[in-house]
Amino acid sequence: GGVIVADVHEGIDSTLIMLKHKIKHTNIKVERHYDQSLPQITMHGSELNQVWTNILDNALGALGEDGTITITTGPENGCIKVDIADDGPGIPEDVRSRIFDPFFTTKAPGSGTGMGLDTARRIVEQKHGGSLTFDTSDAGTTFHIWLPLEGKKK
Ligand code: ADP
Ligand code: MG
Repeated sequence: GGVIVADVHEGIDSTLIMLKHKIKHTNIKVERHYDQSLPQITMHGSELNQVWTNILDNALGALGEDGTITITTGPENGCIKVDIADDGPGIPEDVRSRIFDPFFTTKAPGSGTGMGLDTARRIVEQKHGGSLTFDTSDAGTTFHIWLPLEGKKK
């Protein structure tokens, strides 16, 4: 798609609507802490929605039937920062260094392509000049996304 000006919160909300069928029959709660004073940013079609989809889909997979996903936005260092946290089991230590590798998955054959995080990181870094990192422990996992307000545009 072409370059559009859009709202990060609208993108996340429409992604959550797309994922509703996966959440509906579970006890998973989604809490949104949006900073409504954030400016709009220039996006590239719906590519950012792929980022939200891939990270939220992983969070839902980690939670299974129960848990909380917390989405927090705010300004940081000239960026919009988005944190997507789940209170699932966390990412096992021995796979942490590989989760962004293309085709790396711990999911059963047929249920994961291993491309979700590779794709998400490429969109954030190459299309927005931003960065994507994570923190994890046995209390859960948080992905951090920084999107420069005046980043490199391709
Ligand atoms: P896929 O979802 O197809 O396996 P991804 O690139 O989206 O591929 O994720 C790679 C791996 O990273 C997953 O298989 C899983 O092991 C791990 N992972 C990603 N997000 C989470 C999370 N929120 N909690 C626990 N593990 C995660
Ligand atoms: Mg995935």
